[in-house]
Amino acid sequence: MVAAQTLEGLMTLDQAATEHSAIEGSWRGAEAYHLWLLAHRQLYDGQFEYARRTSLLLQEYEDLIDPVDIYSFIALACFYSKHYGRCSKAFIKLESITHAAKDRQDAYADLATSIFIKHPPADPASSRARKPDLHEPPFGPKAILTHTCMASGRDVGHADNTMMCKVCKHRSIVGELRGRQTCPLCHARYKTGSALDPASLLSSSVESHMSPTAPTMRSANHALV
Ligand SMILES: [Zn+2]
Repeated sequence: MVAAQTLEGLMTLDQAATEHSAIEGSWRGAEAYHLWLLAHRQLYDGQFEYARRTSLLLQEYEDLIDPVDIYSFIALACFYSKHYGRCSKAFIKLESITHAAKDRQDAYADLATSIFIKHPPADPASSRARKPDLHEPPFGPKAILTHTCMASGRDVGHADNTMMCKVCKHRSIVGELRGRQTCPLCHARYKTGSALDPASLLSSSVESHMSPTAPTMRSANHALV
């Protein structure tokens, strides 16, 4: 009897683990393109630090998005957010990608030289002093499912008030939802009752400004070279 109960318990655990993995796997493609589009919106809106953080997540999806596109975007976002150290690493990666044409590799090298003559390849001191981002690789798909805000690409901190989507199981920081009532990834409506009431919106907007993980906005006036 005890053995049967133990076996049944193990099977339940195994089934739960399998279901969890299936959820992670089935949403991976949607995550990749959601984050790809989000990073572009953030960059073109002048939210360079947000764009940089979201762009680093894309490294997890090299099997779904062309690595040349990923590292080109990372280089651009890091340039605009003045993280020249990380920008330089993205150029090194681009030059090492074997399927890139030789003339493109030469173009990367020329562009990198013209940038790093003016800007030494180092990240801001505040960034170097901080403990590494969760999204410094390796971080893995599970971290994206459980620790990444789908509305902003930010790491979800312990102090952050979040909404969990019942359909895709991804999380979003309430302040970053800016009043929207649907999941940014799968567009499912958040359940009534857990929906955002005015009080939670007020506290979350305060929280979003106070959150230590929220990047600062920066204006878009920054020429490429
Ligand atoms: Zn969802």
